[in-house]
Amino acid sequence: MSKRDYYEVLGVSKSAGKDEIKKAYRKLSKQYHPDLNKEPGADEKFKEIAEAYEVLSDDSKRASYDQFGHEGPSQGGFGGAGGFGGFEDIFSSFFGGGGRRSDPNAPRKGDDLQYRMNISFEDAVFGKQTEIEIPKDETCDTCHGSGAKPGTSPKTCSTCSGSGQINQAVDTPFGRMVNRRTCNTCRGTGKIIPEKCSTCHGSGTVQKRKKIKVTIPAGVDDGQQLRVSGQGEPGINGGPAGDLYIVFNVRDHEYFERDGDDIYYELKLTFPQAALGDEIEVPTIHGKVKLKIPAGTQSGAQFRIKDKGVKNVHGYGTGHQYVIVKVVTPSKLTEKQKQLLRDFAEISGDIPEEQSSSLFDKIKKTLKGE
Ligand SMILES: [Zn+2]
Ligand SMILES: [Zn+2]
Repeated sequence: MSKRDYYEVLGVSKSAGKDEIKKAYRKLSKQYHPDLNKEPGADEKFKEIAEAYEVLSDDSKRASYDQFGHEGPSQGGFGGAGGFGGFEDIFSSFFGGGGRRSDPNAPRKGDDLQYRMNISFEDAVFGKQTEIEIPKDETCDTCHGSGAKPGTSPKTCSTCSGSGQINQAVDTPFGRMVNRRTCNTCRGTGKIIPEKCSTCHGSGTVQKRKKIKVTIPAGVDDGQQLRVSGQGEPGINGGPAGDLYIVFNVRDHEYFERDGDDIYYELKLTFPQAALGDEIEVPTIHGKVKLKIPAGTQSGAQFRIKDKGVKNVHGYGTGHQYVIVKVVTPSKLTEKQKQLLRDFAEISGDIPEEQSSSLFDKIKKTLKGE
């Protein structure tokens, strides 16, 4: 798989400044956010954008990328908090690829594991140190992974001479054909174990539940993943362990809605509050904030409470909280309230001019079938 140039991914020039890169990232990440964009491939695109931004927004990673290209940023230990994966293919090209199938004894990277982790809205926003317990294969302590009883050692398979594969000539109506298949004696490993380790029964690994410390990065969003390097399945023939990918499932909040780094909150107002104005305490994830509602506020009006959103997971800025007003029409009225409203209606007259004409336009359009 060839990677696209990071500058190309973000649609900026090589000389783009930090602000320009940040702007391009925000625009694109909104456009391809998997929560908002359900088109096939949007998820991949989103990851590509996040990865490009991760590198280009960091001076040292960017310098390294400019000099070495895609091989550069992986050198700096990409794992740990904030790592968004995507670099694993560099690793597997070292240990996997062509050499892997032809030589079963070559060191091989262990399989990657994926773990879906349910986290609360608040933990996603603020981050948290936590621990997970996952069932995973660990190298057997008794035989140190060889699968052989202590004091003995695995032998080269005589059926396939250690290659793990055998060529079999088959006569067919079209002539003699050579089939290459996995050796049955050693199941492709190239080795047989005359005396098996009693702990792992020759597999070299044992299943354990392993506790792993996880730092949920503050600002992480639903569907994003964290790579914990070296916590996947153990390597084979002395190869490195695979990686663990933790995919975050962020649970919905009772009344906050999140869009990227911004948070939305629906504020219910009574008609008198909306008409006369009020000062109200609005909940934000950072605590209550006083909000002035001007007189004459309409249903659907939107107020911005600056910097009360989510701190960006890449460390760039903080989102805002948007408060969307919903004026609630009372459904149960006492006789006195009804009378007051009738009186109110009487002295108020008709619906304001511009509104009645736009309603009239709508009716006309409906009648014309537009
Ligand atoms: Zn064999
Ligand atoms: Zn063992």
